[in-house]
Amino acid sequence: MQNDFIPGGSLPVEEGDLIIEGINLVAKIFKNKKAIVVLTQDWHPLNHLSFASNHPGKNPGDEFTSEDGAIGPILWPDHCVQDTESAEFYKDLKIDLADKIIQKGMKPNVDSYSGFQDNDKKSETGLRKYLNSLNIKRIFICGLALDYCCYFTAVDGVDFGYDVYFLVDLTRGVDLPPGNISNSLKIMKNRGINFINKESFK
Ligand SMILES: [Zn+2]
Repeated sequence: MQNDFIPGGSLPVEEGDLIIEGINLVAKIFKNKKAIVVLTQDWHPLNHLSFASNHPGKNPGDEFTSEDGAIGPILWPDHCVQDTESAEFYKDLKIDLADKIIQKGMKPNVDSYSGFQDNDKKSETGLRKYLNSLNIKRIFICGLALDYCCYFTAVDGVDFGYDVYFLVDLTRGVDLPPGNISNSLKIMKNRGINFINKESFK
């Protein structure tokens, strides 16, 4: 939930601001139950190859996949550049409820949609190690964007053996390319990911 992904940012997710209150509420419930809250943070260098600006002649939204598949399938506007305000968490998000912040996407030639690992699956962010150190078996995912960071985190979660719950009312997608949201939901369903909503915690 970073500034660039909220309406007004460089890579805004429609209605991204509408889920913040619910996320804070669920995070608070988790803390009260002594559960762990983890935030992920896109943390790109300025020369990151997921940015269209680093590909002469390309524009944000253009289709592009690098040879090794570590960048793509589309290019993005510059976003969440390290140590800039655009990469900060949105002001209304209750960051103090988080136990851990996992940064990702620091290598210029590799993107990391998943909170767990790089897109080429060659290196992990440290999230799995952290969760396993706490003997966590079940994870709940919400935030932005549904069909990228949330989706890849959820699917990796299944691949890594966690019981995965997806808070569908506390996420919004970019739907790029068009149809990507419904496709992501379909795959997640087939992978045995549990769809729930924030009311499930009341
Ligand atoms: Zn990014």
